[in-house]
Amino acid sequence: MPLPPGSTIGILGCGQLGRMLAIAAARLGLKTHVYCDTTGPAFDVATATTQAAFDDEAALAGFAQAVDVVTYEFENVRVETARTLARTVPVRPSPTALEVAQDRLVEKEFIAALSIPVAPFVAVDKPEALRDALHWVGGPAILKARRLGYDGKGQAGLAADADVSAAWAAVGAVPCVLERRVAFHCEVSALLVRGLDGQIAAYECPVNVHEHGILRRSTVPSGLPEADLAQAGAIAARIAEALDYVGVLAVEMFHLGPDAPASARLMVNEIAPRVHNSGHWTIEACAVSQFESHMRAVAGWPLGSTRRHSDAEMVNLIGDEADRWLELAAEPGASLHLYGKHHARPGRKMGHVTRLRRWSA
Ligand code: AMP
Repeated sequence: MPLPPGSTIGILGCGQLGRMLAIAAARLGLKTHVYCDTTGPAFDVATATTQAAFDDEAALAGFAQAVDVVTYEFENVRVETARTLARTVPVRPSPTALEVAQDRLVEKEFIAALSIPVAPFVAVDKPEALRDALHWVGGPAILKARRLGYDGKGQAGLAADADVSAAWAAVGAVPCVLERRVAFHCEVSALLVRGLDGQIAAYECPVNVHEHGILRRSTVPSGLPEADLAQAGAIAARIAEALDYVGVLAVEMFHLGPDAPASARLMVNEIAPRVHNSGHWTIEACAVSQFESHMRAVAGWPLGSTRRHSDAEMVNLIGDEADRWLELAAEPGASLHLYGKHHARPGRKMGHVTRLRRWSA
């Protein structure tokens, strides 16, 4: 049964994604209860909050009692936390999606097993194995920590003749995946929402530009051929089905360019079992944003329209760029989002701006 307005959605994690989820939930008359081990942007807008460790059994039990369903806004939630909660309250997407997405090796093996292309990769558990791994994968390559890496953190580039011990130290001397550096044409992400009944609604794929491993800009339309966009959507749908997924799923991909064979133009980089930075433009450019879609799906509601009605560009405000808030607030047509973070560290996402371009009927 769909959760009626007035129900409470529990959100694990308290970053900007949780903040925007809570705002979308409020529009639908749903309440939110944010649980996190720190305070953060979502605490300012949620109906209720709990600040406690993710392994605090008593706090988790209280949280499970207070909510009707649990979701999460970052993929590094302990799987055990999600499994503990799932014993007493529905957790959507399932803890299995977390388990797959939070370990790069498990993730790549899962995707490759679905016959979806990924960059050639090999697991590296000790520094002595790195030289052979580099030889096998072929340089240049990227060494990525299996766990807890995001926005390019926990990664080191490796030329074919690189000093492998320096790279091992740079990622923190932890179990890793070494993967070939892909000479991609551009990066895209496929964003979809899957409902409790298995119905899927897809957003149009934006083209994404990263700087220093951090998303800078997402643009729709991407300018890529329709057939390639359809293929990206089909890949994401296959992953969602395989995970029996509920909620918004983002799949980041490399597009290999028009010269690559049509059936092999896309390669999956990683999946995010949550709403995603490259989908922020949906707030202004679609009738139902990715945040509302996620809330609808986890509450068992009909999905709503994911169709894009305008061309759009979303630009992240990183570090002290958010200091330009007054100028951006005065810019005609710019939709400014500030996350309420107190300290602007370099590389920290402080907000974003979406600019709608052309209205498409
Ligand atoms: P990730 O943390 O895996 O999302 O990587 C962050 C960014 O680094 C990606 O969006 C790409 O721009 C770049 N990147 C990661 N893996 C590769 C790869 N195998 N080949 C080329 N660029 C990559």
